[in-house]
Amino acid sequence: MKIWLDGKLVGRHDAKLSVFDHATLYGDGVFEGLRVYGGDVFQAQAHLDRLAYSAQQIRLELPYSLAQLAEAMDECVRVNEISQGYIRLVVTRGVGLLGLNPFNCSKASVFIVADQIELYPEEMYANGMPVIIAKTVRTSPRMLNPKVKSLNYLNSTLAKIEAIDAGVLEALMTNEHGNLAEGTGDNIFIVRDGAVVTPPAEAGILLGITRGVVMHLARKMELGVLEENFTPAELLAADECFLTGTAAEIIAVIKVGQKPLGEGQPGPITKKLQAAFGQFVATGEQVPYNV
Ligand code: PMP
Repeated sequence: MKIWLDGKLVGRHDAKLSVFDHATLYGDGVFEGLRVYGGDVFQAQAHLDRLAYSAQQIRLELPYSLAQLAEAMDECVRVNEISQGYIRLVVTRGVGLLGLNPFNCSKASVFIVADQIELYPEEMYANGMPVIIAKTVRTSPRMLNPKVKSLNYLNSTLAKIEAIDAGVLEALMTNEHGNLAEGTGDNIFIVRDGAVVTPPAEAGILLGITRGVVMHLARKMELGVLEENFTPAELLAADECFLTGTAAEIIAVIKVGQKPLGEGQPGPITKKLQAAFGQFVATGEQVPYNV
């Protein structure tokens, strides 16, 4: 495996960061996770635009242009002969002093890993997935803008640990107001009276690229598309529920804690969107990232 690190392709054992990098010391940096379908990076421009937004929000200067980063990802996919896979693009604050001040760091570092991925077992794409609602509350937008895809994932990690402890693979997180926000690494949708409903940005979510694609597909299918808050009780009363993410794609939620959701199996609109998504990835059509 070759990893792109600050402009060079290196072997995995040579792909190293300094212990003085503020990514290591403080989780100071931003990243993207992208899919490769048929050798092409899916929604590359939207992911790069989100990366630029994240970097700007934390006052991190990207050391490469977005065009250079796009080329670097393509190179990584090519040399590793990835046809179906996943890319992790990470920008760290760079090497600095032990103190927190990010402006003592010399220059941001960038690395790109292209590899295989399987987030959830294949069987769950057909039959749906049980989840829990985590006790860990999603970071408030007043604490850390959740639209920034930063290297601080402990809030999600703690909810993920709750899920694993409960014997499921994913946890849904509520926000400080008691509304649903998102999963630990995916966005949430419910289906209600034939419309798809997903929490708005203000609920404290990452504006998922897959979320944007699914909203685009739902509109094309002439379904209602609403960005509205909903509570755990409203989630349980929904006809269907599914999660979206680059790694997860679209996966049905069939049980929340001990309670079955909808018919306890993937619903018809979820299945239609899964099929539409499968066809969409081959088109190369780009859905813009609107922050
Ligand atoms: N929310 C969180 C917290 C995430 O980390 C992710 C990405 N893994 C998502 C939502 C889904 O975003 P995307 O569709 O861009 O992968």
